[in-house]
This record gives sequence, structure tokens and C-alpha cells, in this order.
Amino acid sequence: MEDLYACADSISTVGEVREEAWVRYRHHDFPILSFRFGTTEPAAPTLLFVGGVHGLEKIGTHVVTSFLKSFIRLVQWDQTLIHLLSSCRILFYPLVNPVGMFQNTRANGRGVDLMRNAPIDAEHSTLPLVGGHRIGNWLPWYRGDEFEPMETESAALCDFVRKQVFPARTSLILDVHSGFGLVDRVWFPYAYSQRYYPHAPRILALKKLLDQSYPHHVYVLEPQHHSYTTHGDLWDYLSLEHQDLKLPGVMIPLTMEMGSWHWVKKNPRQMFSSLGIFNPVLPHRIKRAERRHFFLFDFLVKAIASGDRWAEIQGQKKIFLEKKARQLWYSARR
Ligand SMILES: [Zn+2]
Repeated sequence: MEDLYACADSISTVGEVREEAWVRYRHHDFPILSFRFGTTEPAAPTLLFVGGVHGLEKIGTHVVTSFLKSFIRLVQWDQTLIHLLSSCRILFYPLVNPVGMFQNTRANGRGVDLMRNAPIDAEHSTLPLVGGHRIGNWLPWYRGDEFEPMETESAALCDFVRKQVFPARTSLILDVHSGFGLVDRVWFPYAYSQRYYPHAPRILALKKLLDQSYPHHVYVLEPQHHSYTTHGDLWDYLSLEHQDLKLPGVMIPLTMEMGSWHWVKKNPRQMFSSLGIFNPVLPHRIKRAERRHFFLFDFLVKAIASGDRWAEIQGQKKIFLEKKARQLWYSARR
């Protein structure tokens, strides 16, 4: 949190910081901060970095905050970036769940898993508990009470996206998590359903740019349902709302799940620390996580300014990419 306030202090002339909400927990008030750079023109292409939805996964907030710090330095001298920001907007929302991070829990202070908290049910059977449940907040992955409004943190994030991202003609969101597994995954919607995601051809076009420009990158890009389906995913909820409103823009939320078993494998002592499973605890591992992922963040900055190459595809090219996307991600013989 001190890091975020240091960013807020240093942003002065190059960007803007705002308190989106406050969360009360045991007589303390925790702010939720956002950082904005670039044009205020509502329809401008917009890129949003999100971290800290799950309080245990500290590395996500850490990597997003480090990138923000570097970004604040760069916008003071890098003419390429300054030029880019005259027509694009770059946003950071580094800590969605400050109470969870404070108390080292996945859930928020009320025991609700924010990424299971949206009012949307999975269309297919989910993993027991993990997919989200309403049994009670003493178990992880609790969705919250059906008859209560969304949690403050989830509602604040949704409002922020509605105001700052929905009006954009092109937008990308990268929500950074860490989870089990050896592979770094980048998921796109849906989590609630195995159905075809209408922006899949655009994601395939983006993937081709990534594969061609950085052939040795480490990411597996796929729909989230290939890993598991869940109830209450905030990005599904916002994507469906964006579609229902028939907004003219293209909005694509991506979720990065850093494979934390790299760290466990290299430092088995971490298995004994509840935080260690999800976070590279040694400082050089944190640096390595930054080095590993910063190029993807840079790639997305470039991509948001070049939407003509992936977001605005039309006609025969789109038909071709749709066919390929269905083969790659939605056929039974994947
Ligand atoms: Zn997570």
C-alpha cells in the first residue's frame, strides 16, 4: 500500500490518481486506488491493468505496481509513449481487494471471493466449491449471499470499468493472478460457459501478433473454460453487459494466471507457507516475475495503439480467423 501511495505522489503532472472506493474493516478504512494516463477522450483505445482481486496472490499486485512505477518514469521522457498517450488511455487498478491483501486471505474482509461475486451462474457443472458456492463464508470460493448486492470491491471495479472502459472503441483489460500449475496462462471469456466467445477471431489475431513478434514467449492463450468453469466471474458479467448494451466498441478482458509451481519447484520450503504457494517469496524471484511478464505488458501497450491489426478486422479476414479460432479453441479434437 505504501508503494501505491508513493506512485500517487510521483504521478502529479503525468497522470491522475483517484480513490475509487473505501473499504471498512475492523475500524480501519482501506482505499482502492486507480491511476490514469493519456487522453480523456471517452472513445479512445483503452488498456487497463488490474491486480489484487485475491488477497493471497500478492505477486499480481506487486508486478502491476512495479510496471506502474516504471511507467511513471517512462512517461516523463519517452517520446514514443508520450505520443501514444495523445490518442490512447492507460489505466491501472493495482489492488482490488486491499483488506484481503492486508489479512492474507483470498477473499475480502467479509469472506467473499470477489471473482465469484457477480450475479451470473455457470451454464455447465463446475468443480465442487472451487467454481463458487453459497454454503457460507467459512469456506473459500464463497460467492456471497444471493439476496445481497455485490461487495463494495466488486461493485467499485465494475463501476470503474463501466465509466472508463465501456465507452472506448477498443479496449483490453489484463487482470493479473497467480495460481497452481507450471504454465503461465492468459484466459479470455467465458468462465461461466463453454460457448463461443464472439471476440475469439480478434484474440486469435492478437495471438498471431504476439507469436510472430515474440516467438519464445511463455504464454498459453485460451478460453478460461478449458481450465475450469465458475459462477460469478466479474469479467463474464461485464462482457455480457457490454454486449447487452450493444456498445459499438470492442472490449476484451484477459486474465493472466502466473503458474506458481515454478516457484514451489525451485524453493520447496514455500509449500509450508500459505502465501508461498501463490507468490515467489524471495526477492530475486519477484524480479524474475517482473522480467518474465513486463514484455507482455509492453506488448499490450503497443497492441492498444494498433487496434487496426487485431480489433478492427473485417470481411474475409474475420471469417478466416473465426474458422481458425473455432478449430483451435472450440472443436472436440483440440
Ligand atoms: Zn486469483
